[in-house]
Amino acid sequence: MPVSIPKTSRYWLRQVSVPLALTAGEGFPQAFAGDALVRAAILVADGKIARIVAEPLASAEEAPSVDCGGQLVLPRFVDVHTHLDKGHILGRAANTSGTFYGALTTVAADREANWTAADVRARMDFALRCAFHHGSGAVRTHLDSLGKQAGISWPVFDELRAEWKGRIALQASALFPLSTAWEDPEDFRNILKHVVKYAGILGAVTYRGEPLTGQVDAALDMFIDAAQANGLELDFHVDESDSPDARSLEKIADAVLRKKFSGRVLVGHCCSLALMDDGDRARVIEKLAAAKIAVVSLPMCNMYLQDRVSGRTPRWRGVAPLHELDAAGVFTMVASDNTRDPFYAYGDLDGVEVFREATRILHFDHSERPWLESVTRRPAAHMGLADAGRLAPGLSADLILFSARTLNEWLCRPQTDRLVLLAGEAIQSSLPDYAELDRLSA
Ligand SMILES: [Zn+2]
Repeated sequence: MPVSIPKTSRYWLRQVSVPLALTAGEGFPQAFAGDALVRAAILVADGKIARIVAEPLASAEEAPSVDCGGQLVLPRFVDVHTHLDKGHILGRAANTSGTFYGALTTVAADREANWTAADVRARMDFALRCAFHHGSGAVRTHLDSLGKQAGISWPVFDELRAEWKGRIALQASALFPLSTAWEDPEDFRNILKHVVKYAGILGAVTYRGEPLTGQVDAALDMFIDAAQANGLELDFHVDESDSPDARSLEKIADAVLRKKFSGRVLVGHCCSLALMDDGDRARVIEKLAAAKIAVVSLPMCNMYLQDRVSGRTPRWRGVAPLHELDAAGVFTMVASDNTRDPFYAYGDLDGVEVFREATRILHFDHSERPWLESVTRRPAAHMGLADAGRLAPGLSADLILFSARTLNEWLCRPQTDRLVLLAGEAIQSSLPDYAELDRLSA
C-alpha cells in the first residue's frame, strides 16, 4: 500500500529498500553484487535528501517518520531514447504488416499529412504527462527533421522543454537518413541550423537497407565536423536490422576514432551486432569501447519489429548484445523508444515497464551487474544530468516508492500504485485519458 508522506518540510522515510549501486548512504556495505538492495532510512529536509542511513537507525533526529515496511525506493527514471513526435498516432496510422519498412512508410505518410505544430504538441504533451505520472525525471526524444518538419517540430519541442522545466528535463536529437548529407546537402544544413538554434543533439539513421559505400564515411565525417564546430553531441539510430549488410556501427566507431572526436556519442538499436560472427562482433565492440561510444538498446521495440514475418514465428529477440558490450566496458543503457505508433504499437513511457521487459528480453536477472543503472544513473550521466538517476545527500528528493520489498516483487506487478515524489512532495497527477487524442484522429 502507498505510504502517507508527512506534511512537514523535514521527515524520515524509515525502512525503505534502496539499490546499493544507486545510493550513497552511511553505514552501507562496501561489497555488493548486481542490483542488491539494502534497508535504509532517508531524511528529507526542505525538498532535498539530507541523509541516507543504513537501518536500524541508531538515533533518529527529531522529525516525523513514516515506516515504509521495506518499500523499494528508486530515483526517478531517465529515458534516453524516445520518439515523442511519433507517439500515439497508431489509431490513424496503422502499420498493417507490423514490419520495420511498414513502419517507415506509414509514419512518413502520416507526417506529411498530419504533423502540424498543434498535432505534434498535443501528442508530445500527452506522452510527457504519462512519463511524469510514471516517475520519469528526464527524457530525450528524437525529432523527425526532414524538410518542412524541422521548422514545425523543433519550436514545439523548445516550448515544451520550457513548460516542463523542473518536472522533466528534456533533450532532443535530430532524426533523418544519413544519406541526406550527400543527397540533399541544403536540407542537411537546414536541419543543422535548427539543432544549433535549439541546443539539440545531432543524429541520423545510419542504415536503412542501402549498401554501405564510401559516401557513408564521408557523411559521418561531415556529422563529426559539424558537431565539433558547434559543440554538439551525436546520437545515431544504427543497424536496426537483421540484415548481414547492416554494418554501419563499425563505420561510426572508425569515424569517431579517425576524427578523434571527444564529444559524447550514443548509438541506439545495434540489433545486427548480435548476429555477427564472434570475431567480427568482438572487433566492433573493442572499437566502441576505444571510441567511448555509449549504446542504448530498445528491447520492446526491437523484439516487436525484428524477425517479423507474417505467418512465421520469430526466431530471435532482436536486441543488441548488451552483456558483451557491458563486459567490454561500453556504457550500456535501455530505454522506451516508440509508443503507440507504427514502430511499436504499445508502451507508455514507463520506466518500470522498460526495465521489466529488458530484464526478461535481455536477461538482466541472475546477473552480477547493476542493471538498474541502465534506466537511471547511466542515462543520467550520459545526458549530463549528474544529479539525476541516483540517491545521495544534497540531491533533490525526487523519489519513487513502490509496494514491493524485493526486485522480484517489484517486477511481478505493474506498480500502478507507485508514489512519485518531486522535491519531497507527492506529485498530483493522473494518466491522461486516451479520449483526449480522439480529436487528432484523421
Ligand atoms: Zn528510435
